[in-house]
Parts: sequence; structure tokens; C-alpha cells
Amino acid sequence: MPLELLTIPCLADNYAFLLVNDAGEAALVDAPEAAPINAALAARGLTLTTILLTHHHWDHVEGLEGLSTAPAPRRIGAKADAHRLPPLTEEVSEGERITVLGEAVDILDVSGHTVGHIAFHFPASGFVFTGDSLMAFGCGRLFEGTPDQMYHSLGKLAALPQETLVCSGHEYTAANAKFAASVLPGVAAIAARCAETDRLRRAGQFTVPSSLALETATNPFLLAPDAAAFAKLRAQKDVF
Ligand code: ZN
Ligand code: FE
Repeated sequence: MPLELLTIPCLADNYAFLLVNDAGEAALVDAPEAAPINAALAARGLTLTTILLTHHHWDHVEGLEGLSTAPAPRRIGAKADAHRLPPLTEEVSEGERITVLGEAVDILDVSGHTVGHIAFHFPASGFVFTGDSLMAFGCGRLFEGTPDQMYHSLGKLAALPQETLVCSGHEYTAANAKFAASVLPGVAAIAARCAETDRLRRAGQFTVPSSLALETATNPFLLAPDAAAFAKLRAQKDVF
């Protein structure tokens, strides 16, 4: 049975995600805000067994202490980020495979936004949790890493099976759409995604998760032909 995915809006524009198995156990990816996560757990009577953290930024960990969890769940994050993450029970690195809710999860280093940022790939259920690395129609700002690092990170994500659902950390898609349309005008697939993004947001719907196939076809940062072109694009977006 594939895991069920619940997308939980938090704060102004963050997302947390719950994965649920058929035994009523849940795994949380990032904890921007406790109340909406607690509400989602309570509404379904779920037991939170695992917390996965993509990176240390406050808007991805701030809700941790307020979660109603008994017994204490596993807390998993990057070894390279452990010194500035809340206390972890398991430190993981690129290439490791762990088990969450009975399913294999591959750890990818996707540094760029921060150094030590990781993604969690669930190959059996077809999800990848990308935090602020690959985002819907865009990518995270480079606070710590180099353009080369982020370009390499995005390349790893783009190489996953195209049907994978990209579960990213923010609802930034409308702003990303404006940028995509300005740098790649006249690309039909991009224009169509802009219209679809507009339609979804007007209807109050989420644009996250998105399919990797859609990202590889329309995300300007994945369409950049090389690291230099990526660097230029990312710099343009910073001042857009
Ligand atoms: Zn961040
Ligand atoms: Fe963030």
C-alpha cells in the first residue's frame, strides 16, 4: 500500500507534510507551526512516529516543540546540519537508505539554499520532499551554497522518476510563474502552467505538490543548460 500524503499549510506560505500508513502511523516532514499539524493528527487519530527535517531554517523547525507527541517520535535530519538543528535521534547523509513507516527512504544531499540541506525520496510511494531546494516552478534562494552546488543538487532531483511528486516547502508558485514567464516567454508549457497556477490560486487551492515531469518541462532552473546559465538565472530571480 502506498503511503497517503496530507499537505498542511502553515504560517503565511509554508507547507508541512504528513505521510500516513494503513496502521494510522504518521511521519511528518518539517514543522513550521505546531497547531495545524496537531489538528491534522487529531482529526485522523494518527500517531506521529517520525519527524523528518530538510534543513535548519526556523520556518521549518519552529513548530517542533509544540507538537503533541507521545511517545517521542524519531527525529531525523542531516548529519551536516545537526549542529544547528534541534536535537536529532538519527543523523543521516547522502546515499543512506533508512526505513520510515515500513518504507525505504533515500537521503539526497541537496545543498545550495543552505549547506547540509537534504531531501527525502520515498521511491515506493513516489514522493520526494525537497524543502527549499527544488520548489514548484522555482528553486530556493542561495543563502549558503554556491550556484554550482545548487545546480548539481537540482540535477540529482531531476533524475528521479518523472512521476515522482515533488513536495516542497512553500507556496511561492505564483511569484515563480511571473519570473518563468518573463525569462522564457513564448514557451507553451510555461504559459500553460502560469494559467493553471493562476486558476488554482484563485480557487484557493495548493500548487504543491507538483509532478517532477511538470518541473522538468517548465521549471526555468531545471531548464538551465549549465551551471553558468543557472547562476545567471538565480541572480536575476534574486532581484526580480
Ligand atoms: Zn529555508
Ligand atoms: Fe523556508
